[in-house]
Amino acid sequence: MCGIVGYIGTKEALPVLIKGLKRLEYRGYDSAGVAVIDQGKIQRRRAVGKIDQLTDRLKTEQWGGAIGIAHTRWATHGGVTEENAHPHTDCSGEIMVAHNGIIENYRELRDKFLGGHTLQSKTDTEILAHLIEVHYQGDLRLAVEQALRHVRGTYGLVILHKKEPRKLIAARLGSPLVVGIGDKEYYIASDTSPMLAYTSQVIFLDDGEIAEVTDHGLQIYDLHDQQITKEAEHIDWSERAAEQGGYQHFMLKEIIDQPVVIKDALRGRLVDSEGTAHLGGLNMTEEQMHSVQRIILIACGTASYAALAGKYAFERLSGIPTEVDMGSEFRYRDPIVDRHTLVFAISQSGETADTLAAAREAKRKGAFVRGIVNVVGSTIARETDGGTYIHAGPELAVASTKAYTNMVAVLLMYALQFGRLKRLTVATGQRLVAALREIPDKMQTALQQGTKARALAEKYRQYKNFFFLGRGINYPVALEGSHKLKEISYIHSEAYAAGEMKHGANALLALDFPVLAMMTKNQLYEKMRSNVEEVRARQSPLILVATEGDTEARELTEDIIYVPATMELLEPLVNTIPLQLFAYHMAVLLGRDVDRPRNLAKSVTVE
Ligand code: GLU
Repeated sequence: MCGIVGYIGTKEALPVLIKGLKRLEYRGYDSAGVAVIDQGKIQRRRAVGKIDQLTDRLKTEQWGGAIGIAHTRWATHGGVTEENAHPHTDCSGEIMVAHNGIIENYRELRDKFLGGHTLQSKTDTEILAHLIEVHYQGDLRLAVEQALRHVRGTYGLVILHKKEPRKLIAARLGSPLVVGIGDKEYYIASDTSPMLAYTSQVIFLDDGEIAEVTDHGLQIYDLHDQQITKEAEHIDWSERAAEQGGYQHFMLKEIIDQPVVIKDALRGRLVDSEGTAHLGGLNMTEEQMHSVQRIILIACGTASYAALAGKYAFERLSGIPTEVDMGSEFRYRDPIVDRHTLVFAISQSGETADTLAAAREAKRKGAFVRGIVNVVGSTIARETDGGTYIHAGPELAVASTKAYTNMVAVLLMYALQFGRLKRLTVATGQRLVAALREIPDKMQTALQQGTKARALAEKYRQYKNFFFLGRGINYPVALEGSHKLKEISYIHSEAYAAGEMKHGANALLALDFPVLAMMTKNQLYEKMRSNVEEVRARQSPLILVATEGDTEARELTEDIIYVPATMELLEPLVNTIPLQLFAYHMAVLLGRDVDRPRNLAKSVTVE
């Protein structure tokens, strides 16, 4: 959500900044802006809409300058207008501020400090630019530091001042910021993707830290002027992994990458001989693991559907009662957790504000808190006492696909690890391990249904509503499939546990309300089949996802996507793929912005 890029070095800043913003585009935004210092003069351009709109404006500009900041805004305070786009400035026009987050007490600050100031936007951010102006006495870092002491809220900030033309200040509280260290140059950004092309040495800023970056180096301070020493970290995501690689959309590339990236989630974590998995990052002794009486999986959106698949696995394999909780609900509910509770905070970005806050709350109350995240060095990864990277590589489409399947894989491995400690036999464990090893091939087979998924999208594109139905382990799959369709095609869609339909939702079944039902061959096949018959009896058009070889399914409908059979708990890893493809093709056919659907952001760093 929102992107920040800053650059200081020897290169021309503008192309670096624009390329960086493009890398962050996946996070979601509604306007963009850039400011550079060229020959002692500050230049700024902003535009509503896509980055291309901004670059159109820049076509006639001949700016040089080897320092600048840029921003993609996801509006929280003030409409989506050019005046509200960042960077924001003070009365003198000499200070430029790009901000991600929310200044909660901006009204109070305005009334207290900014009596004679002229404000040009409706944003909370602009208040900060003026507040820095109020405190400025020749040292930008000190002015930022003093200004921030008055601020309540969240921020990732990058700031420059015309009077100190070779200096950038970055500050973080609640919104991620990374500093990349190149050769006589520095990059500042919301995540590592804008700097992958130039450096692999980075420093992740922590909350309450301010970085001062000049031609002479990088210094980090806290808000009380104390210097902090931090080691740079090496990141191994390649620039190539963050590129589209010839596919029409990142989402398609990421769907197709799943058989490969799932191997990265499984690698080195399965122990065939003992029929278990070993996730070193758990950081719990066997005694502590035995003491766990309850597991809570905290997640939002797609991660919460991965979590639901995880719940089924934890309960079946380990017998430990497991719940899925939404971060946004958990954090304000005074949740009941204690030292016998194990909480997993699950988030692709590792920055999801609600999940992070919930994890902090659980930690405060004494639970074991572990992270399951994709982005290395992200806040959840650093604030939890252990956990696991899902190793999906950069996921740039807003709608998650490969991160979802890798989350499910990691949860299955944890469930197996706990299961083997509690009640699973070696033989059962080994069967699961063997089945997990076959998953990449099965995913590949499921991907071959792409043409069928496209044909079905073509056939069903005129419908305005959809139901996705599933039972047991296919219920989370239905939820995720429905979620995907909603996110990127904007078609209204709901998922139901099929057995629930007759308690209300059946009233909607009719010719104009198609149903996609997950009817694979597992222990609930017969029950599901009855539910499907009920749907047919009410004339809803019907798509089935069925197991290869299930010829009986043809008696129910001609619209079938076949998937290979696997062990029941592993089905989400395979069965979700045709649903991702269906949503993808539907969105393409309807002309949607597949990778960046309206109103959505990739990493949701505000509440
Ligand atoms: N609250 C700020 C605004 O509305 C920043 C939003 C963002 O993170 O992009 O302008």
